[in-house]
Amino acid sequence: MKFGHAIWYGDRPFEKAIKNIHRIGYDYIELSLDYPTMETLEKNKEMVKRIKALLKDLDMEIGFHAPFAGVELLHPRKIISDAGFKIMERAMKFATQFSPAYFDIHLRGNPPTIKLRDVREEIYDKSILVGQRLSKLNKKLKLNITIENKPNLPFCFLDDFKFFFAGVKDLDMCLDVGHVICANNDGRGKNEGNADISEWIDAFKNKIKVLHLHNCRKTEGSVWDHYILEDGIIDIEKVCKQIKDTKCKYIQLEIFSNENGLANDKDFKRNLELVKTFL
Ligand SMILES: [Zn+2]
Repeated sequence: MKFGHAIWYGDRPFEKAIKNIHRIGYDYIELSLDYPTMETLEKNKEMVKRIKALLKDLDMEIGFHAPFAGVELLHPRKIISDAGFKIMERAMKFATQFSPAYFDIHLRGNPPTIKLRDVREEIYDKSILVGQRLSKLNKKLKLNITIENKPNLPFCFLDDFKFFFAGVKDLDMCLDVGHVICANNDGRGKNEGNADISEWIDAFKNKIKVLHLHNCRKTEGSVWDHYILEDGIIDIEKVCKQIKDTKCKYIQLEIFSNENGLANDKDFKRNLELVKTFL
């Protein structure tokens, strides 16, 4: 199993952040291509060269988190979903040069009317067409695309993924354990999707290539995800024990906060050591 850490635009300079993650003990980085990371790197070929050389030097792998804010791949309005696909295609072509371990995508398409069954059906129908286009590009570009379950509609429930993978055969999955809890706590999902994490792992044993691991805290009915592992409502040890029997090869500790605010290097190191004891 390889362990990864997220890097986003706020972590500049990237080379310093990569060295730090390596020093703490992680095996790979998951670089978010949300605006303007991809645009910045596209303009700065020297920086790309340096990052590639550094990863090679440190013997680290790279995975990508595809751009998602504003990238509405499944929006029922064709003009919006087409624009989303163009951004995604550009990000995929950009990522190819790194031969990434994986390229993780959120399937978004969130008009306010998404609560209505008929609108959702349009979105789900579109997901198969989009999935097949992604799958075709995936074959050509060799990106190891994974589709991640979201914390909210659409594509946050077990049945959404059963439907998707019945129509799109050759893409893998990134299971985000905190997003399962968020989706189950979202009022709109109450009666539709309360499968627990173990049901997800069971259902997609042969699909889960990447795990996003973090804990969740519940306060006054709201769920806060991306929390340090020791403190929260998810049984991390149980998740780790079950994930061992899947095809999962990459665990990204997607931890952003601790009890006092932003999580820090001490949390990242301690949590990495903790997970290793469970596997
Ligand atoms: Zn995630």
